[in-house]
Amino acid sequence: MKWFKMRELVEAVTSVIKGPYTHKFPAEPTPIPDWIRGKPVYHEDGCIGCGACATVCPVRAIDVKEIEKNGTPYRRLELHYDSCVFCGDCVRRCATQKGITLSDQYELSGFDRSEMIEAVEKECMECEVCGEAIAPRDQLLWMYKRLGSMAYANVTVYLAAQEELGLRDRVPRDDRPLDRTDTQRVLCPSCRRGVTLLDEWGPIQP
Ligand code: SF4
Ligand code: SF4
Repeated sequence: MKWFKMRELVEAVTSVIKGPYTHKFPAEPTPIPDWIRGKPVYHEDGCIGCGACATVCPVRAIDVKEIEKNGTPYRRLELHYDSCVFCGDCVRRCATQKGITLSDQYELSGFDRSEMIEAVEKECMECEVCGEAIAPRDQLLWMYKRLGSMAYANVTVYLAAQEELGLRDRVPRDDRPLDRTDTQRVLCPSCRRGVTLLDEWGPIQP
């Protein structure tokens, strides 16, 4: 019995010399390991706004919203980190592998859940006929680079790249019905379908 007491005495003396094992959080930051999975953060430069991260999120913590700012359409990705389970699937499945990472931020508590949002916004290209938002400009350009010569199978993708390179200016269009000349325009899927059918079958008779 007395040996047990001796052991406790040694432990007590050692603790006095070495200091406490516990950390002084929140008075001082807690040392964190390299592998911590903290708050996911978007990277404006690496993200193309494709929305793949929202599709794979198992708890649906990411919303994809189509918004407008000063008359320009944008796609906004809102990651609600109050719902996030820090699984890292969004990082693993990111199309560019550079759009989102798990940071080392772990102090995420707050009083208002509506403020617990990590977001990125990407400007969208508009259809030249109906004005609908098609997809983020960065996403179309990324597809163009990935597809190489195969990108020429998609008129909207290669025209988006030509615009970016300054090789193409949009020619203003009046309210006339779709015609063949519209095939060489940046179009939303609905207008592309319309102009393709028109080109193949002619105007639909009532
Ligand atoms: S870490 Fe997991 S839960 Fe959190 S946003 Fe990414 S996919 Fe969703
Ligand atoms: S590029 Fe990555 S982070 Fe950006 S929307 Fe696509 S999957 Fe999400």
